[in-house]
This record gives sequence, structure tokens and C-alpha cells, in this order.
Amino acid sequence: MTGLTPAAQRRERILREAVRQGLLDRERSLLAAFVDLDGVAATVGSLHRAFPSSPSAPPVLHAFAAKANSLVPVLAELRRLGMGCEVASAGELARALAAGFAPDRIVFDSPAKTEAELRYALGLGVTVNADNHQELARIDRALGGRAPLSKIGVRVNSQLGGGAIAAMSTATSTSKFGVPLADPGSRRELLRAYRARPWLTWVHTHAGSQGCPLELMARGVARAVAFAEEVNAAAGRRQVTGIDIGGGLPVDFAGDATEPAFGTYVAELRAHAPALFSGGYGIVTEFGRSVLAKNGFTAAYVEYTKHMGGRPIAVTHAGVQVATRTVFDPGAWPLRIEAYDGGGTAKRGAPVRQDIAGPACFAGDLLARDRALPLLEPGDIVAVPDTGAYYFSTPFHYNSLPEPAVHGVRTHSDGRVAFELLRPAQDPWDVPVPDRGVHGTPRRERAHEPAHGVR
Ligand SMILES: *Cc1c(COP(=O)(O)O)cnc(C)c1O
Repeated sequence: MTGLTPAAQRRERILREAVRQGLLDRERSLLAAFVDLDGVAATVGSLHRAFPSSPSAPPVLHAFAAKANSLVPVLAELRRLGMGCEVASAGELARALAAGFAPDRIVFDSPAKTEAELRYALGLGVTVNADNHQELARIDRALGGRAPLSKIGVRVNSQLGGGAIAAMSTATSTSKFGVPLADPGSRRELLRAYRARPWLTWVHTHAGSQGCPLELMARGVARAVAFAEEVNAAAGRRQVTGIDIGGGLPVDFAGDATEPAFGTYVAELRAHAPALFSGGYGIVTEFGRSVLAKNGFTAAYVEYTKHMGGRPIAVTHAGVQVATRTVFDPGAWPLRIEAYDGGGTAKRGAPVRQDIAGPACFAGDLLARDRALPLLEPGDIVAVPDTGAYYFSTPFHYNSLPEPAVHGVRTHSDGRVAFELLRPAQDPWDVPVPDRGVHGTPRRERAHEPAHGVR
């Protein structure tokens, strides 16, 4: 249709079909999320093509950062597409294993790994990146002098500086992550730690996420590679055999462009860290947002509209529970909003500046302020693109707002749109058992619950 990008046309097609099939319904399903599985396959394909393969080095392992979207069916899909999985907690490790990843394709990063978690991961042969010297001492104890089954590295902090979003910048001089390379004496102490542990064969870095320029990330990787070369020179052999370059490729939240491309980042890495591609190092990547963000969107009905202080406001069912970062830090995490009618057809009215509010009971629960869109009316649908990573997959339980259903979408060659359920919606009337307390509430005392038909 005129004026819509191909991606927006696709969202319209998915929405119309979702309404037709009842996945969005004014009574029963006011909010739903969609993962474009064809888009995910295309993105993962472009990631695999962007990194060179060298006959002398093992294939690059692209370990998806599970925190970006930890739904087990999504992780399993990424496994089938040839990715590994980066995890940063016991829960994420459990999800990666449930998704069927082989332990040697899982990378365990976390600044707070417990002794028990380390023993478990090392016992399975999961790759472990130690965050600090105290953790290395725990790994020593867990190994008890035995050669590890796992690949083991240390996360280094190049201390190069931050990007535009402080909370996403991990390479600042005082970041909580990794071992500093620039602090006085720190580099020498880490060199000694590698010298004392011949099984330390990887170096890990993750210079930051959204808001960090590619050049800063590539320079951070260059510092990690330079450190690896230093370890190897001191050891007189190739002790460090692999570099884990982390993730962090930013995405464009302002439009449908998939920029910057993975290839652009690889060119930047080649310019700043040519030794990474010398064939002497295995490579692990940990991309999260850039794999999933643009392949997911959220859709919600408008419940009411009003005017306040001269401004139109649409109260929708999508708010802080699915867009936590945007609601609490709208300057750093702006999202686009698209207006559709109740049947899922894009609205074409003249743009009117309006606020798009969520359902939660606090004034700041706004997805967008003063946004020019065709005037929304009750029963319309708003779509929120670019929410495939760190949004609906990481719900916030404020106001006991339920987690929405997540539907995978595939388009068949005949043009048919097919949905598969990736996560069922929570039913707000079903109070989760752990939330009922130790003794719970006997069912017969819950006479106030509405009958099934009302749900
Ligand atoms: C969050 C994180 C990632 C993924 O970052 P994205 O910006 O989603 O690509 C990768 N590695 C580590 C260690 C992380 O903490």
C-alpha cells in the first residue's frame, strides 16, 4: 500500500490476519506480541554471512544473548538456525538447556556466578567467562587440578569509555564488569593469572550495547585482542586461542532500516583489530538486540480516548508491562507507534499530536508523548514495532498486568500467514500459585471470580 514500507505492509498483513483469527480480540485478547520467524531467519543468515570463515580457525560461534529474548521456543528456533546461546544467570542457563543447546555451544557470562553455578556449568562443559580474580579462584577450586571440559576465558574491560546511554555502557573506567586493563597494575596481575592457568584460553569483552558507536566497540575488541597477543607472547605459545567479542550492535528504533548491518561492524573490526581475523583465533559473538529487536512487534487495543489540557490521549493496553525501558527512560528508548483500525488496517487520517498511554496506574505510563498519528479512537489498534528484544519477552509485573501471548509468524509461499504460539497469555484471573502464599486460597473461597465466558 502506498506510503508503507515493506516491513510496515508486513505488519499490517500480520495484524489483519491476527484479528481475523482472533489472536487480537476486543474481549479476550487485548494485547499480543508477534515474532516474525521469517525475519529472524533472514537476520541470522545475514549474521552468518557477515563473518568470514577461515580454514585454519574453527567456525565462528554466534551465541545469542538470551536476555534479549529468553522465550524457550525462540531460543530453540535460533539453535535450529545455527546459533549458540550466551546466558548470564542460572535461569537463562536452564532455558538454554531446555531449548536444546549443546553445552559446548552455551557461553556463561555473569558478574555474580555462585560456586554451585560454576561447578554445574564446568561439569557440563559450558563455556565460562570469569568476571574477576575472585571468580578465577573459585574456578581453580571447582577444577581441583583437573583439566577443564569447558573453554574458559576472562572478561576484560578496555576502559575506553561509554556511549550515549550510561546504563548500556560497559567499558567505562568504573564499569562493574570484567577486569580493568588500564588501571595501574591490573594488566600485569591479569597476565600473571593467565600465566598461572594454562587452561585460560579465551579472552572476553563486551564493550556496550545500544548507544555505543561501532568504532568504540571495535576499539574495545582491539584492546582485548592486543591483550591476548600479550598473553601469547609472554607464554611463548598460543595459549589464548579464542576471542569472545560480545554483542552490542545497535538497532534503528526510528525506522524500518536494518542499520547498521553486521557487515559494517565486521569492516570496522577489520580496521581496528585485524589480528582477530588472522586465523589464529576462534571467534564467539554475543549479539542480542540486533538479532531480535526488529523482528518483533507488540499490538494492543485502544480502550478509551480523552482530551486533557488540550491534548488528545489514547489509553491502550500496552504500557510499562511490555515496554518497561521506554516508559521509565523515554529519552533513551523512543519507540515508534503505528495506528490501525480495529480490523488491523493502517489508519490514513491526518496526523494529530496525541499521547499514547498504557493501562498502568501511574502517570508516567506512556509509550509516546505528543506523537503525530491519525487520531486514535476506542477499538483501534496500536502497533509498536522493534520490540522483539528486551520488551514483551521481559515483562514487568506492575499492577498484576498479565504477560501477553507471543505468537511466532511465518509466511508460506502461497502468501498464507501462519501463527504458532511461543508463549500463552497469562490469565489475570488465575492468581499464580506461588503468589497465593504458603497455604494458598482454597478454590471455593474465590466465589467472586467471573465465569469463564467473561474472561
Ligand atoms: C547484554 C549482553 C550482550 C547482548 O547485548 P545486545 O546489545 O543485546 O547485543 C552480550 N554480551 C553480554 C556480556 C551482555 O551483557
